[in-house]
Amino acid sequence: MSITALMPVYPRCGVRPVRGEGCYLIGEDGRRFLDFASGIAVNALGHGHPRLVRAIADQAATLMHVSNLYGSPQGERFAQRLVDLTFADTVFLTNSGAEAVECAIKTARRYHHADGHPERHTLITFSNAFHGRTIGTISATDQAKLRDGFEPLLPGFAYAPFDDLDAALALVDDNTAGFLVEPIQGEGGVRPASPEFLTGLRRICDERGLLLVLDEVQCGYGRTGRLFAHEHYGIVPDVMAAAKGIGGGFPLGACLATERAAKGMVAGTHGSTYGGNPLACAAGEAVLDVMTEPGFLDHVAAMGSRLRQTLEQLIPNHDGLFDSVRGTGLMLGLKLKSDARRFVAFLRDEHGLLTVSAGDNVVRVIPPLVVEEAHIVEFAEKLSAAARVYVPEADD
Ligand SMILES: *Cc1c(COP(=O)(O)O)cnc(C)c1O
Repeated sequence: MSITALMPVYPRCGVRPVRGEGCYLIGEDGRRFLDFASGIAVNALGHGHPRLVRAIADQAATLMHVSNLYGSPQGERFAQRLVDLTFADTVFLTNSGAEAVECAIKTARRYHHADGHPERHTLITFSNAFHGRTIGTISATDQAKLRDGFEPLLPGFAYAPFDDLDAALALVDDNTAGFLVEPIQGEGGVRPASPEFLTGLRRICDERGLLLVLDEVQCGYGRTGRLFAHEHYGIVPDVMAAAKGIGGGFPLGACLATERAAKGMVAGTHGSTYGGNPLACAAGEAVLDVMTEPGFLDHVAAMGSRLRQTLEQLIPNHDGLFDSVRGTGLMLGLKLKSDARRFVAFLRDEHGLLTVSAGDNVVRVIPPLVVEEAHIVEFAEKLSAAARVYVPEADD
């Protein structure tokens, strides 16, 4: 027997965290890391935030799970807060991002079904998109590395180049249900959609009776300095998936929709055993309590500008390695001129700095949203020290 007990689907690195304190992680061997990865944009409040810890502990002792057979005072309260803060009229709670996207896909198909157009079943998605790892969500991307060997995949998706409005429009036909798009691609390399693209998709949807479905699992929930990234674009979606930061580390996701878009999602059409259980809702509410405190999102925006400025200032000093900075708020990407994965490993192993690589040789810089100026200074010092001594591979 040579297979590991944990199914070996992750190329795990040598860091083995056992404890977290704010913006730091502590490994099994006692090593301390500055965490600018946040569990891939999940630990919005950092590690061990007292408000979140207390809410989860209290709720665990009170009532953890009952099933969606019963009325849910906790779910109603949390959903109402999301409705009050967003474009949405209704929310389905899930345990993950992929499930939130699955619900969004089902909501879109079901809308057209209920609207008398069951033939409108195809969502147009975009190159290098990442929507999750279920069969449905890997069917929704054109990325071969996510799809290979899992065929047959689901029909009902068409793929256009990201940020190319004409190409998207050219794919619209009688079978189109709408568009599924990340306003800022995360895994694809921290690529923000242009305003023309997103507002153009909205316009096409309005003109043709299609649905705009946003995947804000990574770019949403305060990460860009607004609660959701689409707010920067002055548009609203019909349906939207959220997750990652929403539970601050507790597994939680949400599919938000307008009343019109959710018109097919009637009793019996969808469900989840755990989705939105009292414990998850307590975590979600604690995160929202902190995020809706006056000044929280302004802090994210301010730290985001500070971090971006810092990265931009470093580029000329290391212009053989660093290419450019992209992203918004605290969802930033440093594009390298060589392999990003190798540099991310170097930052981690030699300089105690955690970041995440993304497509297109981008180093994702996604600290907890509670990051402070001093952390950014420490980050800059470590990044700069690393860049000074780093030798890219000759054939990179
Ligand atoms: C992480 C992510 C998902 C999938 O979320 P899981 O919780 O891993 O299922 C979907 N869409 C985007 C944009 C993501 O970044």
